[in-house]
Amino acid sequence: MVIGVPREIKNNENRVALTPAGVAELRKAGHTVYIQVNAGEGSGFSDEEYIGAGAIMLPTIEEIYGIAEMIIKVKEPIAQEYSLIKENQLLFTYFHFASSEPLTHAMIERGAVCLAYETVEKNDRSLPLLVPMSEVAGRMAIQEGAKYLEKPTKGRGILLGGVPGVKPAKVLVLGGGIVGAQAARMAAGLGAHVTLMDVSLPRLRYLADVMPENVDTMMSNEYNIREEVKHADLIVGAVLIPGAKAPHLVTRDMLKLMRPGTVLVDVAVDQGGCIETCRPTTHEDPTYIIDDVVHYCVANMPGAVPYTSTVALTNATLPYVMQLANKGWQQACRDNAELKLGLNVVDGKVVYKGVADAWNLPL
Ligand code: NAD
Repeated sequence: MVIGVPREIKNNENRVALTPAGVAELRKAGHTVYIQVNAGEGSGFSDEEYIGAGAIMLPTIEEIYGIAEMIIKVKEPIAQEYSLIKENQLLFTYFHFASSEPLTHAMIERGAVCLAYETVEKNDRSLPLLVPMSEVAGRMAIQEGAKYLEKPTKGRGILLGGVPGVKPAKVLVLGGGIVGAQAARMAAGLGAHVTLMDVSLPRLRYLADVMPENVDTMMSNEYNIREEVKHADLIVGAVLIPGAKAPHLVTRDMLKLMRPGTVLVDVAVDQGGCIETCRPTTHEDPTYIIDDVVHYCVANMPGAVPYTSTVALTNATLPYVMQLANKGWQQACRDNAELKLGLNVVDGKVVYKGVADAWNLPL
């Protein structure tokens, strides 16, 4: 198959959909891979590395869309790419159609086959192409939290791990899914004392089994949260209720219970946030302060570490890319139910219920 990888043109997007290692794998299986010049620059992959792996470099995005049967990307196409998309061209990328009506209509009009990373779903209902970004965000939440706990960034001036003779910081993690578990492990690794909350007792049992000794598990409810926020130095919001806005677990009035310089990192901000006073921020201006409490609410945290994010994402996408390239999308989706759930738009029609419902379109 002829595969094309354009350079991402969405603002501040530095990831790329395929690494040189991925190119080499596809070449080995007999496929032709075109990469746009400089596509890997933001993630630290040079054109020479791609060429060395067997890619053919093309200077413009028009040429990439013009030649490829399958386009692999990271972010959804933006308006200036719409007209480049050909009928029946396969696009494999994050789309998040339910949050953009214009994008949905554009893909219907272009007649593209849109396979969305975010709806590829395993038997156990996990979302294998969202997990890597949650892993990155969960670990990063602690790195960022540690930074904003420093005095020059208006934090409490406490070191997460303490030092001999000085108690470590207290970290409260709300939600013990992918993000929460990664955050708890990272904070524990730095020596902090961690309390990890979830509403699922089976999940808490599992976490209690696998987490290091300096992580306590606790049932998530308003009473417990109200008690814990009084002593926490860093609070990480990591809840998810699939298909719904995140519940406000930390309410406005709870800020008054916290000590000045407490840091809140609301990773769930992309679903509305689980901290009431959270509003989305950017990497350029990531924090703001309310009642002496530092809020960090960046909606695309993995964007700040494009090398790690690119490699983590492509580790997860490549096996699917390979199936699509080897068999064509029809056969690959017949053979693999996980991949089939990724189909969102085919032949000018929406085929994914959540997207059809979101925009009142026929299924
Ligand atoms: P997940 O489904 O793996 O985990 C969510 C957890 O929240 C589950 O264990 C669930 O039981 C728990 N939960 C639900 N209600 C709760 C409550 N009231 N109290 C405590 N726990 C509760 O989801 P995830 O992959 O860890 O993602 C978490 C959030 O992070 C999502 O909103 C996701 O979109 C977001 N995210 C944001 C970024 C970013 O850059 N900001 C990146 C990746 C993921």
